[in-house]
Amino acid sequence: MDIELSHEQRMLLETVQGFLEQEIYPHEEEVDRLGRVPLELGRQIEKRAIDIGLFAANLPESVGGGGLDYQSLVLIEREFGKTSHALHSWIARPAEILMACEGDQVEKYLIPCAKAEKRELFALTEPEAGSDIMSMKTNARRDGEDWILNGSKHFISGPVMPDFAIVFAVTGMDETERGRRKRITAFLVDVGTDGFDISEGTRSVSYRGYLTFQLGFSDVRLGPGQILGEEGRGLELSGKWLSMNRVWVGASCCGKAERLFNLASEWAATRKQFGQPIGKFQATGFKLADMAVELKAADLLVMDAVSKGDRGKMSDSDAAMVKLFCSEMLNRTADNTVQIYGGMGLMEEMPIQRLWRDSRLERIWDGTSEIQRHIISRAILRPLGA
Ligand SMILES: Cc1cc2nc3c(=O)[nH]c(=O)nc-3n(C[C@H](O)[C@H](O)[C@H](O)COP(=O)(O)OP(=O)(O)OC[C@H]3O[C@@H](n4cnc5c(N)ncnc54)[C@H](O)[C@@H]3O)c2cc1C
Repeated sequence: MDIELSHEQRMLLETVQGFLEQEIYPHEEEVDRLGRVPLELGRQIEKRAIDIGLFAANLPESVGGGGLDYQSLVLIEREFGKTSHALHSWIARPAEILMACEGDQVEKYLIPCAKAEKRELFALTEPEAGSDIMSMKTNARRDGEDWILNGSKHFISGPVMPDFAIVFAVTGMDETERGRRKRITAFLVDVGTDGFDISEGTRSVSYRGYLTFQLGFSDVRLGPGQILGEEGRGLELSGKWLSMNRVWVGASCCGKAERLFNLASEWAATRKQFGQPIGKFQATGFKLADMAVELKAADLLVMDAVSKGDRGKMSDSDAAMVKLFCSEMLNRTADNTVQIYGGMGLMEEMPIQRLWRDSRLERIWDGTSEIQRHIISRAILRPLGA
């Protein structure tokens, strides 16, 4: 996108692009075919990312992160979006919710995540609680000073077996203006704790090699120091981070759409049928025109949200608009690219089918398109009393 970048931002962009060219793109096809990132490759990506200062770029320098602002982070996310999540997630952007760590938690969880010594998972979704997170069944009850955790989570994703999980559980009920509401608390749960079972879950055809895990908790005893933030405030804590995460998803969708658009344009200009490039047929040329306009609109939505984010003014609805529009734009672009390539678009040798498969997940995770529409419409209607 044609925006004025500062000198530092241009340097950052060049660094990221160079890194992806060298360390990531050459492995995309192999990882998709294997359905796994070989451990040594993942560790190599991680190490080289640390060496050039790309690791944990989102965390403040005070805890060992890169200390980048949202305007700079969005440039990285957009470039990352052009490639496989299975690979670039080795260059961690640790969950910013970890900034709520206090006391011993800082040394035990936050700083090790910034240094790639530990990996976390963010565990909200359950088999029976996906979009409807308030139907969560995982719960923790008090036992003296401790908490006893029971329940299960699924679809909890990451590049590699983690060291701990940020687990959301019901710890009671609150009376609110809108009726009784579950109190939800975030806990830091170490892998290896008695009663905590973690194993790889089913595999997604989007971002093959990016792992999902299923987590089971059977009378897991947690001390009071395992609560992240305040008891009963887990959703409020995660809300701020989740919203910004939706903007990163939007930016990454723009990156992937740009890659698809470039592939589609090149093909339309060179593939000939009926004696001329297929791009000269209006049916193809107009597809490219629509793709270009939509990509530009999506980029502008991202920039608007990021600029508000840097000023502390971004709303949940702003983030939902970005996630909704960018992920749907990407899927239209991916589908049109397959169409422009014809049969060739579905061949395993071509990257199109992989990018098309990868694109599909973006409308589902971090809240489906329907849930984003729900957030946007609620922001419109609530002030009107509905
Ligand atoms: C590869 C992958 C990685 C993931 N990583 C994580 C992770 O790390 N941590 C984590 O916590 N979760 C993770 N998730 C879970 C993800 O966030 C959920 O899949 C998503 O929120 C949707 O939940 P669901 O799959 O249970 O679908 P459901 O909630 O069952 O939805 C099914 C359909 O019903 C629609 N629907 C549901 N409610 C409504 C409504 N009120 N109005 C209109 N339509 C509705 C949905 O939009 C959707 O189309 C991951 C998922 C995948 C596939």
